[in-house]
Amino acid sequence: MANPPAVKAFKVINVRYTDLKLVLKFGGTSIVSAPNIRNVANMIKSLSKEHKIIPVFSAISGVTDDLIRITNYIRDRNGEAANSLAKKIVKTHMEISNQCIKNPKVRKELVGKMRSDLGEFEELLHGMLLIGEVTPRSSDYLISFGERLSINLVAFALNDIGIRAVPLTGKDIGIVTDANFGEAKPLMDTTRLHVSHKIEALAQKKTMPVIGGFAGADQHGNITTFGRGGSDYTATIIASSIKADEVWLMSDVDGLMTTDPKIVKNAKLIKEVSYVEAMEMALFGAKQIHPRALEPLVAKKIPLRIRNTFNLKNPGTIVTADPSPDTQKTVKCVSVIRHTGLIDVRGGSMVGAPGTAATIFSTLAKAGVNVMMISQSPSESSISIIVKKNDMDKAVNALEMNLLGKIIKKVDVTVDVSIIALIGSGMRGIVGIASKVFAAVGKRGINVIMIAQGSSELNIAFVVKDSECNAAVQALHDEFELAKGG
Ligand code: ASP
Ligand code: MG
Repeated sequence: MANPPAVKAFKVINVRYTDLKLVLKFGGTSIVSAPNIRNVANMIKSLSKEHKIIPVFSAISGVTDDLIRITNYIRDRNGEAANSLAKKIVKTHMEISNQCIKNPKVRKELVGKMRSDLGEFEELLHGMLLIGEVTPRSSDYLISFGERLSINLVAFALNDIGIRAVPLTGKDIGIVTDANFGEAKPLMDTTRLHVSHKIEALAQKKTMPVIGGFAGADQHGNITTFGRGGSDYTATIIASSIKADEVWLMSDVDGLMTTDPKIVKNAKLIKEVSYVEAMEMALFGAKQIHPRALEPLVAKKIPLRIRNTFNLKNPGTIVTADPSPDTQKTVKCVSVIRHTGLIDVRGGSMVGAPGTAATIFSTLAKAGVNVMMISQSPSESSISIIVKKNDMDKAVNALEMNLLGKIIKKVDVTVDVSIIALIGSGMRGIVGIASKVFAAVGKRGINVIMIAQGSSELNIAFVVKDSECNAAVQALHDEFELAKGG
C-alpha cells in the first residue's frame, strides 16, 4: 500500500496553493476597450495555468445605464432618442469586436456572433417601440443585453490566445430564478443542479464558460435580472453551485475602505471582514458588493476577495465567515449615504393609537417609496423617516393626500441630509461606543438630527445635515483610529 497520510498531505497543499477553483467576476471598467479586454484575457490565461478559472462578466461600463435610459425613452415614446442610444451601443460593441482580436478567422466569428445578438437586440427594441410599453419583463430582457454582448468579446479574445472558451448568459449556464423581474432571486436547488452539470460537461471538453452576470431566467425561460450590480450575485451563485474555493470580485478599486477616501485622505484598505459586516457595508452603499451577493457563500463558507484588476499586487479585502481575531476591532468603517431627505410626521392622535406606524408605512409603500431609516420618539407623538432625495416629493405627497388631518397633523421636511453609519461586529455588547460617537461629533459642534441602532449592534447610524457630513465622518475616523490599518 502507498503511504496514505503523505499523499493526503500533498493533496491538501496542492489544493490550497494551486489548483484552486476560482470564480472571477470582472466589473465593467475592466473591459471598456480592446486593450483592456486583451489584458483581462491574458490575466485569465495566466491564472488558468495554476487554477481552474470560471469567469463572470458585467456589461461594459456605462452600457446598463444606457439600456435603462432606452427603456425610459420608450416609455416617453421618444423613438428617436431610443434608436440613437441603441446605435451607440451597437457601434461600441462592433468597434471593439474589430479591434480586440488578432486572428482574422476568430475575428470573423466574433463579428458574426455580435451581429446576430445585436440583431435580436434591435428587433426587441423595435417591438417595444411599436407597442410603446415597457413591462418589468420586457425591461429585463432589454437590459440583460449588456452582459450578453460583453461576454462575446472576452470569450473570443480568449480563443484568440489559445484558450477554448464559449460565451454563456446566466440563462444558458442554468441560473433559474423566481419571476420577480428587476430583483429576481435564484431558485438555488434547481440552479445548483443545472449549473454544476453544465460546467462539468464543458470541463470534459476542456472549454471555459465565459458567463454573463446580472441575469438568469424564470421557470418559463423569461429573462430576469438581479438588480443593479447583480453580476456579483451571479458570481456567488455560480461559486456556491460548483463549490468553488474562492470568489474574486475584480473591479477598479483595491477593496473595501475604512471610509470614502474622497472625504478622508488617510482612509485605509480593510484587509479582512466577516460576511455580516460586508453585507452591512453593502447595504450602507459600498458599491463594491451587491447586498445579496454574500448569501450564497455563507452556508459553504466560501471566501470572497475584492481585488483590483489594475493592481493585482494588492491582495485586496477578504470576506470570510470568521476573520482572524486581530482584525476584530470594535469599528471597521464609517459609511455615508448622501442625498437623502428627512420627513417628520407629527400629530397628537398618533399617541397610543395602534396601527399608526403601519398606516404611514403602507401609504409610503403603495407610493413606491423605499424607507431607509426610521425612528419614533417614545412619546409616540412623532415619527422620523429618511428617504432618498428623489423619493421626497412622492413621499410627502402620499402622506399629505392620504393622512393629513386624519392621523397626522403636520409633515415637516428637511432636504439635504446624510446618513452616517459606523459598522463593525466588534461593537456588539461593548459599552460606551455610542457616547464616544456622539461626543466626537458634539465636540465639533455638529448637530445630530436623528439616531438609530439596530438590535444586532452591527451599526450605529445617525443623520446630519449634508454640509456637516464630511466633518462628522472625519471626526469618527479619527476618534476610532481607523487610519491605523484595517
Ligand atoms: N451591468 C449591471 C449593472 O450595471 C450589473 C453589474 O454590473 O453588476 O448594474
Ligand atoms: Mg458592481
